[in-house]
Amino acid sequence: MHAPLVVLGSGPGGYTAAFRAADLGLEVIMIEKYEIIGGVCLNVGCIPSKALLHTASVISEAEEAGKHGVSFGKPKIEIDKVRENKDEIVSKLTGGLKTLAKMRKVTVVHGYGKFTTDKAIEVVAEDGTKTEVTFDNCIIAAGSRVTKLPFIPWDDPRVMDSTGALELEDIPERLLVVGGGIIGLEMATVYDALGSQVTIVELSPGLMPGTDRDLVKPLERRIAKQYENIFTNTKLASIEPTDAGMLCKFEALDEKTAKNVPESDTFDRVLVSIGRSPNGKLIDADKAGVAVDDHGFIATDNQMRTNVPHIFAIGDIVGQPMLAHKATHEGKTAAEVIAGHKAFFDARAIPSVAYTNPEIAWMGKTEEECKAEGIEITKGAFPWAASGRSLSNGRSEGMTKVMFDKGTGQIIGAGIVGTNAGELIAEAVLALEMGADAEDIGLTIHPHPTLSETFNFAAEVAEGTCTDIY
Ligand code: FAD
Repeated sequence: MHAPLVVLGSGPGGYTAAFRAADLGLEVIMIEKYEIIGGVCLNVGCIPSKALLHTASVISEAEEAGKHGVSFGKPKIEIDKVRENKDEIVSKLTGGLKTLAKMRKVTVVHGYGKFTTDKAIEVVAEDGTKTEVTFDNCIIAAGSRVTKLPFIPWDDPRVMDSTGALELEDIPERLLVVGGGIIGLEMATVYDALGSQVTIVELSPGLMPGTDRDLVKPLERRIAKQYENIFTNTKLASIEPTDAGMLCKFEALDEKTAKNVPESDTFDRVLVSIGRSPNGKLIDADKAGVAVDDHGFIATDNQMRTNVPHIFAIGDIVGQPMLAHKATHEGKTAAEVIAGHKAFFDARAIPSVAYTNPEIAWMGKTEEECKAEGIEITKGAFPWAASGRSLSNGRSEGMTKVMFDKGTGQIIGAGIVGTNAGELIAEAVLALEMGADAEDIGLTIHPHPTLSETFNFAAEVAEGTCTDIY
């Protein structure tokens, strides 16, 4: 088989690139090892996790409605139906994707692809059938996989990675989540709402390392009351399968945590969620002359071109942040460059969101980064305890903060913690892309009472013009 463009991988990066290239008139072959296209995001990532998080938020809201004088009683959880609902949402989207590929005449070849030269990929189907696919241009969109700690007994069904956790086989009575990053905390939110007693163990001094502490604090405070235990500054030293459960040994990394952390404890299930590794070393990229670093990442220029001029790379395989919206934008850029357009990946900010309860979202530089890089900023922070809308929603925790570069006056970063922070952060990204300053944001009339106006108020705080309206 031959096509002017071959895309290796059908995740959000791959299918966006394939569709954009087809729309621009290119004949495209997309190679995918699984029968169902859509990659990690649609099948075992963003979408199934958000379907379950929605179920979790319905449960939490119902439980907390007692405060408003409405009681629903203990929720009856029908685990099979929760799973079916999630699976139906995923199938709807992957089915839609298949139709969109067909409509655009994108040929999907199923099987595992590896480069044999800089012009060819050999695809081995599940039944062993081999197909050689040759190309003029190629986009590598082979994504990433779960990082596996070597000492974990992965063959024990009580040990799960994020994919296993999303399968929702049962609701364990006691669940240990290893890793307090975004994915671990999202899955902890789900299992806690469904009734598990959750313990989190995290190596760093705080949850969600890399995020400003003031954004993480409201989440830490809330879950400290709900979860069985949160062990930060603590290492999981070993896991041993026993009849009573998974026997986990812990190692406290400083004296402060040592007194709270038991030497060992037994859990019904363990979710290991310590990060993801790029798939760069699994596709014989060297046979095409494509450089892959020690971690498995493939470097590109701002047109998504690798060191081999007709081979491009996008998505998780090119670097952090490993997020679907970064992959899709990179995919579009690569497709457009191959179609002869002068396109560049030139995003000034890529937002990150933890869809926890409360949500945490940030974009641009964090306050910590500004400090570390010696960037002088003016900061405006607006606490949601003063937001009429947040209080009406029954939530007094939350904060919106915006940072402006003292030199240029322009917005340089923002962070939001609270309900729907993931939706709200988009406005800050637009403001940064447009080079807005505090006055621009302060003068932009936001509807009242909304959570979105906290962005306006935070900018006014930075300007010194906030008048505390409720
Ligand atoms: P992938 O989605 O990884 O797709 C790569 C595809 O290539 C896969 O289908 C794979 O089977 C295929 N492939 C790999 N190698 C080969 C080969 N040799 N031959 C053939 N096919 C191959 N991101 C967000 O932005 N928001 C979220 O809310 C979010 N939630 C997440 C929740 C979880 C639990 C997880 C695990 C991830 C989440 N992510 C989220 C991250 C997001 O899923 C990834 O950033 C995104 O899927 C990356 O897209 P991609 O196109 O680079 O690769």
